[in-house]
Amino acid sequence: MICHQYCCGAKDGQGEEKSGHEKEMDMNQTGLKKYKAMLEAKRAELSAGLRNREDIAIEKTSDALDEVQLAGERELAIRNLARESILLRQVLGALERFADGSYGTCLHCEEEIKPNRLDAVPWTKFCIRCQEAADRHEFETKAGDPIDEFLADAA
Ligand SMILES: [Zn+2]
Repeated sequence: MICHQYCCGAKDGQGEEKSGHEKEMDMNQTGLKKYKAMLEAKRAELSAGLRNREDIAIEKTSDALDEVQLAGERELAIRNLARESILLRQVLGALERFADGSYGTCLHCEEEIKPNRLDAVPWTKFCIRCQEAADRHEFETKAGDPIDEFLADAA
């Protein structure tokens, strides 16, 4: 009689399938280093831009036409600010995923994200297929892009 419970238990139960996966991750990590540099450059660029954007305050004017124009400019500035803030958050999130080794893997389907997509959007959380699904709101993006909430807060 073959003993599955004891002598073979370790082999059947806790097989070493994971080590192969980890090896693959290491290989990805080295291949992904260039994206880390891209992300860090983007983070520096966005942080600098956001720091210089504290002059959104409304300028007082007695001219009604100017007020309308200023309101429009202010709204545009807020929208840009919101977009850059969200982008910065995405960049920071991507850098965090570098730290925990999950960078380059789709957060939804856990497939590897294609290099051409990372080249275009190095801070992406999803592979192109899942991103399209997320854009259509086919699933909840837990740490989604709260652009509407942000705009509501800023208004
Ligand atoms: Zn995916």
